[in-house]
Amino acid sequence: MLKIENLHARVEGKDILRGLNLEVGAGEVHAIMGPNGSGKSTLGHVLAGRPGYEVTEGSITFNGENLLELDTEERSRAGLFLAFQYPVEIPGVSNMEFLKASVDAVREHRGLEALDAVSFMKRAREASKAANLPADFLKRGVNEGFSGGEKKRNELIQMMLLEPSLCLLDETDSGLDIDALQVVAQGVNAMRSDDRAFVLVTHYQRLLDFVEPDRVHVLAEGRIVRSGGKELALHLEDKGYAWLEDEVA
Ligand code: ADP
Ligand code: MG
Ligand code: MG
Repeated sequence: MLKIENLHARVEGKDILRGLNLEVGAGEVHAIMGPNGSGKSTLGHVLAGRPGYEVTEGSITFNGENLLELDTEERSRAGLFLAFQYPVEIPGVSNMEFLKASVDAVREHRGLEALDAVSFMKRAREASKAANLPADFLKRGVNEGFSGGEKKRNELIQMMLLEPSLCLLDETDSGLDIDALQVVAQGVNAMRSDDRAFVLVTHYQRLLDFVEPDRVHVLAEGRIVRSGGKELALHLEDKGYAWLEDEVA
């Protein structure tokens, strides 16, 4: 589903990703861990096609397409969903309008009929319920004044409604209390399927107690320096990242 080869990317003239390789198959859940500043969020921004993130070498193939040739909207329509560490607020645009416009665009791209208002509302309410966010948040401005936990739950609603094929969650677990963490984990688990993959960027093993990953990778200094099963996450929790220094060097 996703194949990243020898990816090099720079921001503000600084090389951040330096030869990153990653392959994620349909139905799989991958976790990416790694020290602060290693390039985890940069990888998300490059995948999203965020301006200012320049790919200088390498390739990204998504469902057989050259992802780097698509603009941000085309990537989302093609089934890529990215939940960022710091979700943006869009005051003045209601959450419901925003969700409806996003779902309409994705459905159109997939050759599906637009949902009528009633069916859409029904789905949006079901998603709110599953994300444990009261339905009146749908009427508020997108993330406007939402707490950290509410923003993460709102992202879960977006993800459930958009039915993407690849979801990257960047530190969705950071700053969440245990109840909110479980809501996010349950949401991810409920959405796991043979034709959908997840990349979970996380600092903590904690999330992985609830969402069992197929593969765990360590990103350090812009490259994946170690990959393994879920035992790798436990090992990192125990030993920290210092033991990887030789490998990085
Ligand atoms: P992580 O998510 O692994 O903590 P990031 O991808 O956020 O790391 O950052 C990797 C490095 O890139 C850091 O040194 C950070 O300061 C730098 N960086 C990220 N975005 C920018 C930017 N817009 N301008 C300059 N440097 C940046
Ligand atoms: Mg960080
Ligand atoms: Mg980050």
